[in-house]
Amino acid sequence: MPIRFDNVTYAYPAEESDLVAVREVSLTIEDGSFVCICGENGSGKSTLAKLMNGLLQPTVGVVTVDGKTTATEEEKELFAIRQKVGMVFQNPDNQMVASIIEDEIAFGPENLGVPREEIGERITYALEAVGMSEHRKHTPYKLSGGQKQRIAIAAVLAMRPEVLVLDESTAMLDPRGRAEVLKVAEDLHRQGITVVLITHFMEEAARADRVVVMKDGRVVMDGAPEEIFRDREAIAKYDLELPVADALAASLVEAGLPLEDKIYGESALAEAICRSK
Ligand code: ADP
Ligand code: MG
Repeated sequence: MPIRFDNVTYAYPAEESDLVAVREVSLTIEDGSFVCICGENGSGKSTLAKLMNGLLQPTVGVVTVDGKTTATEEEKELFAIRQKVGMVFQNPDNQMVASIIEDEIAFGPENLGVPREEIGERITYALEAVGMSEHRKHTPYKLSGGQKQRIAIAAVLAMRPEVLVLDESTAMLDPRGRAEVLKVAEDLHRQGITVVLITHFMEEAARADRVVVMKDGRVVMDGAPEEIFRDREAIAKYDLELPVADALAASLVEAGLPLEDKIYGESALAEAICRSK
């Protein structure tokens, strides 16, 4: 079920002149892909994410999910789109409504009118998918940030989405929490869920099949991570960084170690250093 953007512009209404946050974007998110969206603050990433599930509707152009436009007046159709394209945001504390985790997870399916027994099954599935089954009857307040985000993901999974959009969902977490959430995203991708990950962390971007870079509301780069990270000028221009292993590889080459000047990733770099002895 691809998400398609066809020449999409979005402007937030403002008193003086409208603020254009997304400009002339054409983009397809393919079924089963793992796409990372990067770009400096204010480049339009969150606006793009909200256009994907009809939280915002284009000012110009069309967004379709499964061939259906998000610019529908039909409440039912919009609901179906929001169920298919689930979103998790940055701050885990703002996303919790219930005082017991299983109630938190049940909230979405209850709103969808899912029968009782099936809600129970969905809670079991969703908590298992994020590795939080033993917390089913607990309160979410005492969890770590990473665990809270995994519960937020479980709450979305209970809606049986086809696409999971994570909008800087790792930004407020410590390294351990980030790793937990990334692992869940990768597991879900392997199980066939389409993942759209918005992040500032290039280690995360390096794990995606595709990296989309935004600047001033436009898509300025779109390609495989190796392709993006090989373009050092663009990395500087769009306020990105190299993943740590690749920044290290570049320094090693500069310092005279006979490595190929290319994009490695951690394990490939370790092997290349051992071979170069
Ligand atoms: P990013 O997620 O990449 O930081 P956003 O999509 O949040 O970018 O923002 C893009 C632009 O739209 C920015 O200039 C931002 O100030 C503006 N913007 C975002 N949200 C709103 C809003 N609710 N009302 C008005 N302007 C907004
Ligand atoms: Mg944002």
